[in-house]
Amino acid sequence: MANKALRLAHNTPGDFFVDSTCIDCDQCREIAPETFGDGPNVATVYKQPATPEQLRRSLMAQLTCPVGAIGSEQKHDLTMGINSLPEQIEDSIYFCGFSSRNSFGASSYLIVRPEGNVLMDSPRFASRLVERIEQMGGVRWMFLSHVDDIADHAKFRRRFGCERIIHEREVRASIADIECKIKGDEPQFLGPDLVAIPTPGHTRGHMVLLYADKFLFTGDHLWWSPECQGLSASRAYCWYSWEKQQGSMERLLDYRFEWVLPGHGRRHQATSARMQQMLQHCMARMRQQ
Ligand code: SF4
Repeated sequence: MANKALRLAHNTPGDFFVDSTCIDCDQCREIAPETFGDGPNVATVYKQPATPEQLRRSLMAQLTCPVGAIGSEQKHDLTMGINSLPEQIEDSIYFCGFSSRNSFGASSYLIVRPEGNVLMDSPRFASRLVERIEQMGGVRWMFLSHVDDIADHAKFRRRFGCERIIHEREVRASIADIECKIKGDEPQFLGPDLVAIPTPGHTRGHMVLLYADKFLFTGDHLWWSPECQGLSASRAYCWYSWEKQQGSMERLLDYRFEWVLPGHGRRHQATSARMQQMLQHCMARMRQQ
């Protein structure tokens, strides 16, 4: 729950506000860009929601905020926001919302497929989200890109009996019971339409997931950057090896995809040819960092 006493001064006057507990995860700005904008290392409300659609998206942002930093003076019925999550991105791909503080507000996604749904990284185990996921067919597999974004994985396992997948290099004593541990650096087919691609660099055992040769779930390996208007990775957020991360980026040139769906950073859609071009530009920028 946001605290009115901690309301940041640079919020525009009115109903919605961001308080000083904001961790600048960027979720609200991506979900409701007509309401939330940049403050000094925090988000801010720069324009109060004025239409039903802006209110709906502001409520989605409020529900997704990992630290409860978004509040409102008026009491709002959250149903409209709850019913909008998970939100369809395209085809059978959904953004879960309900980010977890334990994964620093990372995005998670649901792939709905007849062979069994895949939950990509872990959202908060919020009862309203869990009910919605259950209505959409539950979770058969939970793909964990790396150890930082696993949040409530054990609760999802208990609720849905899903098989969790992570690279063995990410395993710690606390998650030794994860069902499926990918070994080595070779891509592995998890199904005819699902490829786990080891991308060491950000962490030792980071992996991305390619679905249907169209959707690339990139964890913290790669994202869209509004600043450079292209695909990006950051040396400042590379915890293991920048050289290895560059090698992992080059490996992605072997694949075709039209969506980049990251944990942190913005998602992006383009033709596969344009993605290849942007990947090349990203690699060139990485060499200069
Ligand atoms: S979603 Fe919450 S923590 Fe993240 S930037 Fe917005 S207000 Fe800050």
